Order: sequence, then structure tokens, then C-alpha cells
Amino acid sequence: MPKIQPKPPLIWLNIIIFSVLTLITLLGVPWWAMSYGVETSTIVVTVVLFFYTGMSITAGYHRLWSHKTYDAHPIIKFVLAVGGAMALQNSILHWSSDHRVHHRHVDDNEKDPYSAKKGFWYSHIGWMLREYQPVRYSDYSNCKDLLKDKIVMWQHNHYIAIVLIANFGITGVIGWLNGNIVEMILIAGVCRLVLVHHVTFFINSLAHIWGKQTYTDVNTARDNGILALFTFGEGYHNYHHIFEYDYRNGIRWWHYDPTKWLIKSLSWFGLTKNLRTVPEDRIQQAKFSMQLLKAKNKIAHVHNADVLKQKLETEYHLLIEKCNAYYASHKRLVRIQQRHLQKTVEKIDLQNTCEELKQAFIEQKQRWQFIQIQLVQPA
Ligand SMILES: [Zn+2]
Ligand SMILES: [Zn+2]
Repeated sequence: MPKIQPKPPLIWLNIIIFSVLTLITLLGVPWWAMSYGVETSTIVVTVVLFFYTGMSITAGYHRLWSHKTYDAHPIIKFVLAVGGAMALQNSILHWSSDHRVHHRHVDDNEKDPYSAKKGFWYSHIGWMLREYQPVRYSDYSNCKDLLKDKIVMWQHNHYIAIVLIANFGITGVIGWLNGNIVEMILIAGVCRLVLVHHVTFFINSLAHIWGKQTYTDVNTARDNGILALFTFGEGYHNYHHIFEYDYRNGIRWWHYDPTKWLIKSLSWFGLTKNLRTVPEDRIQQAKFSMQLLKAKNKIAHVHNADVLKQKLETEYHLLIEKCNAYYASHKRLVRIQQRHLQKTVEKIDLQNTCEELKQAFIEQKQRWQFIQIQLVQPA
């Protein structure tokens, strides 16, 4: 008979914190609202703190410290470090270390701290309730850069004090000014904390289960516009897992990604800089290669699969060729424009060539889309 492995020990502190916060939110808040009502000012403060603390995790813990997708002014770092502590998700150093392991060993049940392959509950919250990987708890060897960051280390060394002062101090002072300390701590403090917990936990759970694999299928990460609405823009998780050094998760202007908008708007005031983005041609190529793979899978059992596959391959290679040609010419044009060589013959020639290559690429893209629809339709 196979020997049953005993479950790792429970982490009682986390269990008690999550249980108490949840009970207060599910029972205490409705009881308070029915007994005394809730003032509009409390709701406004709750919403403001929800975005402040949630985006301290997404813009700060995640995109600034874990992935270094941009640089920030020390004032912004301080504000994000306090907001992140207020979201009660461990220190920047610890969170980033876990997250870097997650990216490096995504879906590896032994190594990924919140592997989605172990199910929704585990990746959402279960991983924090037992000592599944105790070796990881104090090993920060993958965060040598952060060990040198003064704000990160200040927050790490005084984490508990910052958590208590930020959560009870900020809400307490606002409540005192408002004339209702208990209501403010209950709703803008505890209830907001629980909401931020679960929406950010969704990034580890739902964002690895629900949505499209637009750019890669080598991991479980999904792109999901609906989830982005609840996760401050982190729902475009498939893109994020393949291009983790991009400061954006939703790359198109219409993608709801308030974290990206915050980072970008701070750059206009010099508060953030060196915003990193992935070149558009690499993004397009990743998308096309996924489309090729999906189309091949769909026609795999059709009687003339080999002929269709050949046709797909030919069109795909033409598409990549035209994509490369257009973006190479576009990059050359941008470089010339940056050198302020205006109205030169070279620039006009290049503009015309670039326009022609763009048209050729667009036409091939339309042809590619048409072929995919045609090929995957049942005969
Ligand atoms: Zn990440
Ligand atoms: Zn992930």
C-alpha cells in the first residue's frame, strides 16, 4: 500500500487572521449597516483605500519590485510600500521573492508557491494556510537587488508596525475626523482589506484558470478582460507571463489596466521613468504562433490535414516575413525622426517604404485571419 504523506503543519497565525477578518466582514459589517446605516464619506474613503492599497500591490509589489518594469521616485516607492503593507500581503521582499519563484517555476507543483495545477483553492488562499514550502520562507537569494533597496528593507524590518499603524492609524484618524472611528475601521479598514485580499488573490487563482491563451500555452496563465476589471488591470495574465518585463498588462489602449495608466501618468511628472515595453513585432509574432498552433490542432483530424497544414505554414511564414519587414522599417523611421532630420530625401523615402510595408502586412494579416476561419470550419 502506498504510504500516505502527512499534510504539512497548519500556519495558525494566517488561519486566525483570515478567519477573523472574514467573519467581521460577513457578519459585523452587515450588522453595523442594518443597525446604524453607513455614511457616504465612509464609502468614499473605502473606495479610495481599496484602489490605493490594491494598486500598491499591482503597481508596487508586482510591477515595480518583483519585475522591475520601471523606476520610481523614492516618494512614490514610500507611498507604495505603506499602501502594500496596508494590504496585508507580507513584506515587499517576501512577496517579490515568492512571485519571482512563481514566474520561474510556474505550474510546477513542487516549486511554484501558488501553482494553479494544484487547484483553485490552493492557488487562491490554501497555499498560505499550511507550511507547504518552509525552505522558501526566509530564502531571499533571488532578490539580491531588493536587499539593497532601502525602502524595501525599511518596510521588511518594520513590517508589523507599518501594518498596524497604516491600517488602524490611517482609518482611525480619518474616522476621528469624520466622527465615527468604529465605522471607518470596520468598513474602510477590515472590509476593504478582505476585498483587496481576494481580488489580488484572483490573479493567482482565476487568472490561471479562466480566459484565453492568446500568446502562449506553455503555462496556465490566461488573458481575461472581465477579470482585469476586478484586479486593477492584472487580468491580462497570459501576456504578463510571456512578457513579464513590460510595465503594461493590458497592452492596447482600450484594455482596462488602471495600474498601467497610473505608472504612465506618474511619468509625465517625472515620478516614474524607464518604463519598459516589449517591441510590438515580438508581441505580434507570439500571437501569430499561438494562432498557428490552435489552427493546426483544430484541423488535426480532418481528412486532408497535411495539405491544410502546409497551406497554413506557407501563409504563416509570409505573415512573419511581412511583419518583420514592416517593423524593421518602422524602427528605422523612428530613429531618423528622433535625430530630427526633417524633410530629408532619406526620410521621405523611408516613410513611403514603411507605409507600403505596413499595407502589405495588414493585407497578409487579413488573409491569415480569413484562412484560419476557412480552414477550421467543418467541411
Ligand atoms: Zn508577475
Ligand atoms: Zn501567474
